Amino acid sequence: MTITYQVKNSIYVNITNRCPCACTFCLRTHGPGVFGSDSLWLDREPTTDEIAESLATWDYTRFREVVFCGYGEPTERLDALLAVAEHLKMRDASLRIRVNTNGLSDLVNGRPTAGMFANKVDCLSISLNTDDPDEYLAVCRPRFGKAAYPAMLKFAKEATAVVPEVVMTVVGEPVTDSGKQARCRVVAESLGARLRIRPYER
Ligand code: SF4
Repeated sequence: MTITYQVKNSIYVNITNRCPCACTFCLRTHGPGVFGSDSLWLDREPTTDEIAESLATWDYTRFREVVFCGYGEPTERLDALLAVAEHLKMRDASLRIRVNTNGLSDLVNGRPTAGMFANKVDCLSISLNTDDPDEYLAVCRPRFGKAAYPAMLKFAKEATAVVPEVVMTVVGEPVTDSGKQARCRVVAESLGARLRIRPYER
């Protein structure tokens, strides 16, 4: 079971395979693993202690960032995520912690959650994907239906008040043309976030 794995200069953490979306482009539909990891499908979800133990095996003089990403949506396990992030920060406050998320934490957890990331997470990378709510629905296929897109925007806006860096992402050409990229930048910046164009990978 792969809980932690290396991607370039970062340690990625895989805490759940659950996700409220079924994105048409999801890497989970294209094979057993990514980034050289054999398999990111978990037999079962690791406990908080198991996550902390797996993280403790890495040499942090070589890695300066921990990324909650995985093969699923990390905020499906918000309590575990925040407990581990807090543990890491207590050990080394300078260690950068990023969460890659679809931004649907409020709907997943049934309450406002952006404020809970304060002082535990340095960067939230939120998948914006598009400026068009209908396209979002068609591409990300969230189980929350039309409520998902505005909830994701609200989460991002509230996160900018407490998390030092909030980045919203879209995939670059040919998935997102330059006109749509420009509109997505307006959306992200109107929320106080920065837009990042992710490279398109076949
Ligand atoms: S939000 Fe992420 S993990 Fe979930 S289906 Fe979409 S790409 Fe896959």
